[in-house]
Amino acid sequence: MPGTNPRELGLLADCDNCFGLCCVALPFSASADFAAGKAAGEPCRNLRDDFRCSIHEQLRQRGYPGCTVFDCFGAGQKVSQVTFEGRSWRQAPGTAGQMYAVFPVMRQLHELLWYVAEALSLESAGQIHAELRQALEETERLSRESADVLEKLDVAAHRTEVNVLLSRTSELVRAGQPGKDHRGADLIGARLKGADLRGANLRGAYLIGADLRGADVRQADLIGADLRGADLAGADLTGAIFLTQAQLNAAKGDAATRLPPALTRPSHWPDTRSEAGTQTRAKPGSGGRSKPVPGDRGRSGGAGRRSRRR
Ligand code: SF4
Repeated sequence: MPGTNPRELGLLADCDNCFGLCCVALPFSASADFAAGKAAGEPCRNLRDDFRCSIHEQLRQRGYPGCTVFDCFGAGQKVSQVTFEGRSWRQAPGTAGQMYAVFPVMRQLHELLWYVAEALSLESAGQIHAELRQALEETERLSRESADVLEKLDVAAHRTEVNVLLSRTSELVRAGQPGKDHRGADLIGARLKGADLRGANLRGAYLIGADLRGADVRQADLIGADLRGADLAGADLTGAIFLTQAQLNAAKGDAATRLPPALTRPSHWPDTRSEAGTQTRAKPGSGGRSKPVPGDRGRSGGAGRRSRRR
């Protein structure tokens, strides 16, 4: 029976045991996030023969900030070492296409494992821990299927099933909180400075570039929220659920931003407190524009990108 520790579950990216899959399998376009684009299956021009990134220490300076906010949740090493038993796409080019197809499937399974493991760590979700445990075991079992099975797996259907439990977890955690329902809301650039977002449902909300300085986001559900460029300086995210490191890495913050204990302060955040980030919180109920959209689109966390190859 698998435990719930992300490290024991293999959910922490281990680039040393991966064949650079995020730098080969995934496509990206030339943009503010990537200095040069590439097609799916084409190795990035910066990927070395040893599957490491030649510009890892200067990704932001060299125009690849998108690579600093990617997280495969350990899918890269699982596909490389378990599914394909240590045979790289260079050693076995005949299986490369299948490996590239399996990688995003595995990433979704591992992301689900991450969320379910977090749910199992929440005491307030205790009444559904048995069901969550089953979901964890089934997802873990699927992740160990053969490449042929994984390639054809209806991962969206599995995701929908597990999401029912994650939504129930969210309701249990947020019960009794004043949080509003901003699920799927268009909050791009919203002025939420000092807002009371305690226990808010921000599942899949678009918070790109939102001003969340000094906001109270405790116990809010942030699964799939797009936090790219959102300013979290001085915000309190203590107890926020389903927030990932990739989402944080895509946002801005400062030394006064309070984080859930499992997450770490991104290295590009300043070590100092910004003046605006320590403003007094606004009265409960205040906030920026909001357009709740029913239904969770099941997007992956934020920009979904955390540090790529080391
Ligand atoms: S981490 Fe480096 S090698 Fe990988 S995609 Fe980004 S720039 Fe390319």
